[in-house]
Amino acid sequence: MTAGRMGVLRDPGAVRRRVRSWRAAGERIAFVPTMGFLHEGHLSLMRRARRRADRVVVSIFVNPTQFAPGEDLAAYPRDLRRDLELCRNEGVDLSFHPGVDAVYRPGHRTAVHVTGLEHVLEGTTRPTHFAGVCLVVLKLLHMVDPDILVLGQKDAQQAVILERMIEDLDLPVRVVRGRVIRERDGLALSSRNVYLSPEERRAAPVLHRALRKARTAAWHGERSAARLLARVRRAIEAEPLARLDYVDCVDARSLEPRRRLAGRVLMPGAVWFGRTRLIDNEEFALPEEER
Ligand code: AMP
Repeated sequence: MTAGRMGVLRDPGAVRRRVRSWRAAGERIAFVPTMGFLHEGHLSLMRRARRRADRVVVSIFVNPTQFAPGEDLAAYPRDLRRDLELCRNEGVDLSFHPGVDAVYRPGHRTAVHVTGLEHVLEGTTRPTHFAGVCLVVLKLLHMVDPDILVLGQKDAQQAVILERMIEDLDLPVRVVRGRVIRERDGLALSSRNVYLSPEERRAAPVLHRALRKARTAAWHGERSAARLLARVRRAIEAEPLARLDYVDCVDARSLEPRRRLAGRVLMPGAVWFGRTRLIDNEEFALPEEER
């Protein structure tokens, strides 16, 4: 590790030049894309990046193209000064926070679709979301040109889709996933948790608890997805402040629905608490089913 002052850049060209000079010196670069309002989940990804690379680059960019009209783009919490301080404390080498105009120039029309994966699960409620995520991550990867991309398991479907995009487009970057960081009561850390009222905050761990119980039941031999999902739904319906958006049981790589649980299973879900929509998931491995 080469400790030093953290660079703070807004201009993509300047980022490119900085990274190029590191690469010329033979250094490995890890990249953590974020939308800012950083919490321990983001910081854990930075530490993971630090362990695997000589240089850590963090982007802070609330990406408008991944929000649909009517979603919380304008309200999305922001605190750049605090974010930069947190990055500095983690020994990040470069924080990159471009303006919207530097990422999306007037008249841009190109879209990135990972077909078959982008309209299921999260994509049912947010049909334009993943095209926006893929577009911005592809652009950021071109700007930063890292060796390693660090993503959070919190957004498991996002990670699956980005891994697919990277493989399909032969991008020379390796993806590393970081585990979900949680509050003591199990609630996954999220920048959106600040939207919750105190009552909603107390109710919010219900999704994680229900998914974890489903995982335990699967480990104890339950193999019917329908029965597991029914249990999860019942647990969430029992919480008056929670309104289930969806919960499902899919293959962790293809995201195809599983009727019988086997192999690597992903159980993702989303729940509304008032106007706040929170997501979570459990991913676990079971023996492959015998034929
Ligand atoms: P965001 O700022 O929400 O776009 O998230 C940026 C990155 O941090 C994504 O790769 C997320 O999956 C990851 N992330 C968000 N929350 C958590 C968490 N609680 N634990 C671990 N990683 C997280």
